[in-house]
Amino acid sequence: MTQKVCIERVEVRGSAPYLGMCVDADGNEVPVWSDDPRVVLDWLCDAWRCRYNQLRSRRMKWNRDRSELIPLGSVVDSRTDRQVREQCSWLASVPAMILQSPNRIENTDWWSANKRRRTLKKQHRYPGSMPRFKTCKTDPMFVCWYNKGANAVFHKLNRHHGMVVISGQNSKEHSLPGRGCRFEIRIRVRLSQEIRPYTSIGVHPKSGYLVFVNDPLPIPRKRTGLETGIDRGCVHSLALSDGSFIDLPKNRLEKIDREIRRRQKAQARRVRQSGFDTREYVRDGHQSNRYKEEQKRIGRLYRQAHRIIDDFQQQVSHRLVSEYDLIVLEDLNLQGMSRKAKPVPDPLHPGRFLSNGQAAKRGLNHALRSASMGGIRQKLEYKTQRAYASSILLVNPAYTSQQCSRCGHTCKENRESQAVFHCTRCGLKLNADHNAAINILQRGHETFISGMDEAGRGNTASDIQGKNLAKDAAVRKRKPTASH
Ligand SMILES: [Zn+2]
Repeated sequence: MTQKVCIERVEVRGSAPYLGMCVDADGNEVPVWSDDPRVVLDWLCDAWRCRYNQLRSRRMKWNRDRSELIPLGSVVDSRTDRQVREQCSWLASVPAMILQSPNRIENTDWWSANKRRRTLKKQHRYPGSMPRFKTCKTDPMFVCWYNKGANAVFHKLNRHHGMVVISGQNSKEHSLPGRGCRFEIRIRVRLSQEIRPYTSIGVHPKSGYLVFVNDPLPIPRKRTGLETGIDRGCVHSLALSDGSFIDLPKNRLEKIDREIRRRQKAQARRVRQSGFDTREYVRDGHQSNRYKEEQKRIGRLYRQAHRIIDDFQQQVSHRLVSEYDLIVLEDLNLQGMSRKAKPVPDPLHPGRFLSNGQAAKRGLNHALRSASMGGIRQKLEYKTQRAYASSILLVNPAYTSQQCSRCGHTCKENRESQAVFHCTRCGLKLNADHNAAINILQRGHETFISGMDEAGRGNTASDIQGKNLAKDAAVRKRKPTASH
């Protein structure tokens, strides 16, 4: 977890950091010092990226025919931090806590990307590209370790302002005459909350923010004895089993959606009028400046919508976790739900296809994606872990929307419309999502009780969940022997 703050101002105090050698107009090499904060931050970003890429260059990858491992880069750099400092004069004055941090970060980045690729390949999904070198096009940044107060020390100035001090020193041969050798980079930041103990900071000068890397806060709560089942859907984002609904701020999102569509239409018109194919227009660099500008604006709008959804989910999940002891959700296969419709080949005309309802499916998929139902589950999962006496249970989602929550009668006709549920046997009339939420809670109870029977004893739902998983695994293991 991180805490993100805005950078207000940067100052360089004390001596000016030594930035390396530069060739002047006469062709002589001259040393460069600077106390311009922008130049100094750029220098630190470049140094951090350079060290990161040096470490990355030692990694190996398979060659084309997968017969042998070859290095990732054309040049393998196996120098240590100390050798780098001695041999590249422009890295000589970089604070040690900055120059050392890529060691661990590069390693974590590399192995997590590899693990992700392996998992995705197993699931027959697109694994994404191999981790590469960092380029100057990515957001320039550097990381500085706190290391129990060794560097990147935070000082609180007043309620809304604080300062992070990164200190360093020039070596004797590189120090600026008459100004000593120590320098301090003071980054003033704006605060909205208390900064918790942190392990490192990440500085993004170009985007103007700084992050403190620290542990997430545990959610303070007491046992309430309340339970809820939650039905996730497109019309109502969340329907709880007590009959209440929680909705995304739809008006704001729709407004952004309309804006995006308007701009995308204009973009399509620009492509059309240029006389190129869309792919040619984008790939071969025929885009006008206006087109590029608009593309950026569209990206900004997408990010804005994403932030609104994320904020909503954070707030709602926090509220649910602090209110309920047990939260029951459907175990939905969201990826399968929002898949494209399969093409239907026309038997009479080979090479042509019959209508498969893809247009309607596209609309549904868009709605599913914009509801972004996966996020709420993910957030609930990690927040229940960080809260006392709170747990989440996933149940089988089959027929929860068609089953009657009073008599248990399950049939398609029960669902009168999208919104209304009307039981054909006992006549129960309810909002369809509310009915589904009650069913989900009931299934949660059933799972809970069967887990209790199985376990003989059971105290918390998370225990039961663990046991259920173990039970499932045991059943899965037993199956092949049973079928033989
Ligand atoms: Zn009924």
